[in-house]
Amino acid sequence: MSTDGPEPAVLWFRRDLRLGDHPALVAAGQRVLGVFVLDDRLLKPAGAARRIFLVRSLRALREQLGGRLLIVSGDPATVLPEIADAVSATSVHISAECAPYGRERDQAVRAALARREIDLVATGSPYAITPGRVRKQDGDPFRVFAPFYRAWLEHGWRGPADTEKSTVDWIDPGAVAESVELPDEPVPEGLTLPEAGEKAALTAWREFRKGALADYPDDRDRPDRPGTTRLSTYLRWGAVHPRTLLADLVDDLPGGDSFRRELAWREFHADVLWHRPETARRNYDRRFDVFDQDTGKAADAAFDAWCAGQTGYPIVDAGMRQLLAEGWMHNRIRMVVASFLVKDLHLPWWRGARHFMRRLVDGDLASNQLNWQWVAGCGTDAAPYFRVFNPVTQSQKFDQDGAYIRTYVPELRDLTGQAIHQPWTLPDGPPAGYPLPIVAHAEERQEALRRYGAVTG
Ligand code: FAD
Repeated sequence: MSTDGPEPAVLWFRRDLRLGDHPALVAAGQRVLGVFVLDDRLLKPAGAARRIFLVRSLRALREQLGGRLLIVSGDPATVLPEIADAVSATSVHISAECAPYGRERDQAVRAALARREIDLVATGSPYAITPGRVRKQDGDPFRVFAPFYRAWLEHGWRGPADTEKSTVDWIDPGAVAESVELPDEPVPEGLTLPEAGEKAALTAWREFRKGALADYPDDRDRPDRPGTTRLSTYLRWGAVHPRTLLADLVDDLPGGDSFRRELAWREFHADVLWHRPETARRNYDRRFDVFDQDTGKAADAAFDAWCAGQTGYPIVDAGMRQLLAEGWMHNRIRMVVASFLVKDLHLPWWRGARHFMRRLVDGDLASNQLNWQWVAGCGTDAAPYFRVFNPVTQSQKFDQDGAYIRTYVPELRDLTGQAIHQPWTLPDGPPAGYPLPIVAHAEERQEALRRYGAVTG
């Protein structure tokens, strides 16, 4: 391949499937081959929702690039050096990866490229502030959100990178290698996914900013209202960068502070996982390694009922069915269903986390595992382990009229008044087809407290 003109470089897209505000693209220069590697180690555990959304995101990116995106499959440490050599690139550019598998993979790729004297250059990351940078004054990492948040604000972040108008000459991938066909996996029955791609992400953000943002401080906890952005799916694949969002929160925009704080939770969890990669699988608080949890047939049956949205607690079932229908669940309800699994059913957090990771379209290792641990009481922060969400009062408080429950639990659609929150109290019991509660919350709460007491002393 001719090397006349600007130095060619490879931009290896991963969790940064966009062209706007893309620091690694700036670093790559003016003559760039865009590559995505379909990597089985990431794809297999993802679940259909996330895989399908990824494929759609790649199609959207390829379209933005006028078709000039090379899509290959295989081990990145094997395929990337060959691709870089084929275009005579001396550098492969990436946005830094911060989760355990990605960090390890990047080390292997870096070593493989180095053998051919090609640099792996990391610029930026999927976060406003790259995990690992915000530290206590003594250099230790934060273990509690509130002081992390203050230090994160104080640290500050750069403005968005100006890549929208970039005049990159994208190298035609046809001259380098043949792209693999993107898999056309059928969408599981009943699953609806949002539109993929940078344009869809920016449109969703623009509309939210003009509309619901002002009410975000109150409505973010209301699953019955369109009160949140649903940007988690786009942030997952980097269709939009958090700095783009933060840069728009100017002039004391109503709702802006509250929204900025939520984005900081995403950064906090990424920071925790960066310092403690083993917490993707293990308890952050190791005292919980001996915590007493249920196993066996009855425990498995309870788990299956939870997964299917058949626990007899309407707010829990609505959440679990929203997950099946949309690959997404409202944050308040994620907390309620997670608490129910751990504290009412006495099952290990990682079982729930694994189910979430298979089903969520926004499934993200740091946010998922560490939020699960937070709810389970074995994670970071001052989340008191003795806080047991009551599925009835949560429902009465945050889904007052039952509109959220009615959307996802058709068996309860015709119920009026307070019965929607606890249909077992109706004189004839719940409507046909809807189960009685599989456990009694008041009793299981006591049992949970007993077990927690045994660990925490
Ligand atoms: P918004 O309210 O619009 O918030 C804006 C953004 O802030 C979100 O997109 C997200 O990036 C970030 N954010 C908000 N709350 C949190 C939080 N508690 N932790 C981390 N980031 C947050 N989020 C994921 O992105 N992927 C996951 O796999 C995931 N698993 C979770 C599992 C459990 C048990 C719990 C309790 C929470 C989990 N969350 C996860 C966090 C949160 O529920 C989602 O980020 C949020 O519901 C996404 O909806 P949204 O984009 O409308 O949020």
